[in-house]
Amino acid sequence: MENALKVRDIAAWLEVWAPRHLAESYDNVGLLVGSADMEVNKILVSLDCTEDVVAEAEREGCQLIVSHHPVIFGGLKRLNGSNDVERTVMRAVRSGIALYAIHTNLDNVMTGVNRHLGELLGCTPESLRILRPMGAKLEKWTVFVPTDHADSVRDAMAQAGAGHIGNYDQCSFATEGTGTFRAREGATPFVGNPGEMHREPEVRLEMVVPGEAMSAVRRAMLEAHPYEEVAYDRVALENGRVDLGAGMVGELPEPMAWEDFADHVKQALGGQALKHTAPVKSHVQRIAMCGGSGAFLMGDAARAGADVYVTSDVKYHEYFQAEGCFQLLDVGHYESEWQTSTLIANKIKEKFPKFAVRLSSTKTNPVTYR
Ligand SMILES: [Zn+2]
Repeated sequence: MENALKVRDIAAWLEVWAPRHLAESYDNVGLLVGSADMEVNKILVSLDCTEDVVAEAEREGCQLIVSHHPVIFGGLKRLNGSNDVERTVMRAVRSGIALYAIHTNLDNVMTGVNRHLGELLGCTPESLRILRPMGAKLEKWTVFVPTDHADSVRDAMAQAGAGHIGNYDQCSFATEGTGTFRAREGATPFVGNPGEMHREPEVRLEMVVPGEAMSAVRRAMLEAHPYEEVAYDRVALENGRVDLGAGMVGELPEPMAWEDFADHVKQALGGQALKHTAPVKSHVQRIAMCGGSGAFLMGDAARAGADVYVTSDVKYHEYFQAEGCFQLLDVGHYESEWQTSTLIANKIKEKFPKFAVRLSSTKTNPVTYR
């Protein structure tokens, strides 16, 4: 059965993990070239999608390339092969290879690019949290359920996406009380007799519901609830989503001399050189990080009390912002993100364990050192 997978099956699974609506507005994610109906027997996963990567997909018999960086980013006006983006797209179309990008939507989820980076840098998994949580829509729902049905309603709502807080799921709060109602003419009550006031032991069940899950949670709640008329309240919350957003901050298990940490970063990310500012402390423990261009999070790194901020693509004048706050380590864009391919490949294998997923062996880094 796994031989007959289609592009849409892979895309759907990746979008449960990193929904497309979480991408930044300037970004271009999802299926960029090809059709969702195309059959796939083998997938190539890569950080970048270049002409060489498409050539590798041809050689290896892959029908789909999943890359972190989208090959079409700033828009295309013509396809005549005058630059590498056009040549890459033309070659993929000619060879019947679909191109799919999972970019800033994967930067913005808890289990995405930056958590992976944090683990590579040696932060303890339980210490990692989002550096700049997203102000995404979140509501608190309160539903009144007869006591015997509280568990099944809670389970159904949790399955549909309610009750997620950080690394926890199935979060809820329940208080017991008494509900009253009188069924009027035409009603078919689950308990009690029409025309008589009824008292029923009920649970007041509260759960948080994220914006993207609201319609699914409502459907699941109404289906699992035994009452003809379900009483529930929805309240908009001001809380930010702690499980979504940019960058990550975490702690090393023990303080480390900054020189040792810098060497460790180079080794873990396969870098040949690091650009960095003067150390603020001799030993470092709290590490902020952002794969790719992360200068926009320097204020957040300072507010989080980071000793070090690991990112890339920092401009000369931006280095000054780190002064006295934290040590900035500019590790290089490719170095900070190339291992995202492994993360994506593992995620695909988690759902389709027998499926052929190849990590690209094409070195796409356009930057070299000497
Ligand atoms: Zn990047």
